[in-house]
Amino acid sequence: MSDTNDTNDAPEDWVNEIEVRGLIVGVFQENCWVIGNRRTREAICIDPGEQAEDIVHLAKDMGVQIKRIATSHGHLDHVLGIRGVQSATNADFLMHPHDLEVLRGAAEGAARFGMQVEQPPDPDHYIAEDDSIEVDGVKLSVIHTPGHTRGSVSFFGAGMLFSGDTLFRQSIGRTDLPGGDYAQEMNSILDKLLPLPDETLVLPGHMDQTTLGEERRQNPFILQALQQRGVQPGQRLGPGGLILPE
Ligand SMILES: [Zn+2]
Ligand SMILES: [Zn+2]
Repeated sequence: MSDTNDTNDAPEDWVNEIEVRGLIVGVFQENCWVIGNRRTREAICIDPGEQAEDIVHLAKDMGVQIKRIATSHGHLDHVLGIRGVQSATNADFLMHPHDLEVLRGAAEGAARFGMQVEQPPDPDHYIAEDDSIEVDGVKLSVIHTPGHTRGSVSFFGAGMLFSGDTLFRQSIGRTDLPGGDYAQEMNSILDKLLPLPDETLVLPGHMDQTTLGEERRQNPFILQALQQRGVQPGQRLGPGGLILPE
């Protein structure tokens, strides 16, 4: 690896060291992700929604140690496993500050579904646009993608996008809950996610994986929003939502 001040993408050998595994957890069938580095044995855990023991076991299976926990947003189906993973690993917990109120309502919200759970801890650190979450050998950049909630973020690195409840395969996250905003959600997707490479693997908070290219061409919500902006099918959006020449 270069020792100079190199801000380019990670070299290939770095990417090959990365191992990602997902676990569907809890009654809301939420996707928890563990992103580890085989060489350094350090890992980031995204959205431990429930079943903390299973998540810790998964990391053990992968031969990695979870050093950071990050949540895409504060909804209860993404945060109820934080306390358990944290107490087993001592990992820091990171979240966008705009979802603090949502997070603090998680146990109360769970009680409405008949679940008796301990309230998740407050974050140890806050994250914002352009921050990166790093453990040795794994680095994900934070993209603030409000719309599903005010503090929703997506994580991008090593050719993968962890899109939380912002972007799903053939769908998007609901915007009818407190803090939700449909126009803002579509702006987040069009202006901040679509400019990423088409081959980017999208690993969402629920349901199946997809690629950004597939969603750009087939996601009905994206197609409608692009049409409203006057973007022709096949045209690409660049940074800031500008249409790029083919
Ligand atoms: Zn959600
Ligand atoms: Zn969710």
